[in-house]
Amino acid sequence: MTDTLSDSRTASRMFTEDVPVVVEDVRRRPAAEREAVLADPGFGRHFTDSMFVARYESGRGWYDARLTQYGPLPMDPGTAALHYAQSIFEGLKAYAQPDGSVATFRPEANAARFARSADRLAMPQVPEQAFLAAVDALVDADRAWVPTGPDQTLYLRPYMLASESFLGVRPAHEYLFLVIASPAGAYFPRGVHPVSVFVSEDYVRAAPGGTGDVKCAGNYAASLRPQQQASELGCDQVVYLDAVERRYIEELGGMNLFFVLGSGEDAELVTPELSGTLLPGITRDSLMTVARELGHRVTERKVSLEEWRSGALDGTVTESFACGTAAVITPVGEVKARTGDFTVGDGTPGPLTMRLREALLDIQHGRVADTRGWLHRIG
Ligand SMILES: *Cc1c(COP(=O)(O)O)cnc(C)c1O
Repeated sequence: MTDTLSDSRTASRMFTEDVPVVVEDVRRRPAAEREAVLADPGFGRHFTDSMFVARYESGRGWYDARLTQYGPLPMDPGTAALHYAQSIFEGLKAYAQPDGSVATFRPEANAARFARSADRLAMPQVPEQAFLAAVDALVDADRAWVPTGPDQTLYLRPYMLASESFLGVRPAHEYLFLVIASPAGAYFPRGVHPVSVFVSEDYVRAAPGGTGDVKCAGNYAASLRPQQQASELGCDQVVYLDAVERRYIEELGGMNLFFVLGSGEDAELVTPELSGTLLPGITRDSLMTVARELGHRVTERKVSLEEWRSGALDGTVTESFACGTAAVITPVGEVKARTGDFTVGDGTPGPLTMRLREALLDIQHGRVADTRGWLHRIG
């Protein structure tokens, strides 16, 4: 049983300047089925009724932008993205606001990062306005899928792939840009728990001149084996060191890292500098701003594994946490490394970690005034 969206809306949104967003009728799952999913959405398991798709061809540019039924993509076995991973993505969330509206968080920053990822992988640019229009159109169409439970969100996944069927190694001439949406439950439904991390000394995530500073699919493929190794050793996540000296902390597989030095009002926040091998996280950037506004000193610089270890042991480093869109903030408790294990603080979530986490969640869920213009309302 499905109820169909009966109003065949004429395109009211433009994707690019000359390409309208065509809104097709889609089969909508019955409200009861949707509510059952939203009661316990998990992460990345369920998808909404619609998806956004636009096509690109060299010499023609973007064309055929549409909101259509969520479902399989017809794909030629020779599709370039399947062979050479010419594929990039973004991740952001839509949040139900207390006034009943829906907002995304700093989507312009995702659009800008997507543009840098596209450039690095020799893919066409999706103009910022087009990126925002696509995300807005999908959230608007599937608004009923934005969950309203505590810390629940609608996770949005814009991505682009080389869709040309061709096995030569060169930038493809044809691309698909898509946005799909997946309701997400609270990351810590039973309270915030610190993760344990394994410092990988066998593998590196990114080398200077590589693709570590952009969000491309291949980076994640290469992170799975080290992640498996961490799991085998009983750890939740992998910490990567720099590829050259194997000394400096870079980040986790999909999250940036912060260290708290000292405590109370004088606590200082330190995070590895963007050396070209780190992914510039929007959560990272937002937390630096929030921490400064709370009166804390924030420093971007190199942090060695040795500094982390000795600091944790002598009490200089009081807290550590990882951050990213999916989990917002995850405290780091135990650290395992070949050269010796250690615990940060007393192994429980630190006070500044929790304060920053609440502060950012309050902004995103509209529980405090959005003084920085970070929320993008979807009308
Ligand atoms: C996406 C990502 C992050 C976090 O970025 P946010 O914009 O905060 O979600 C951090 N590290 C890597 C490797 C990533 O891919």
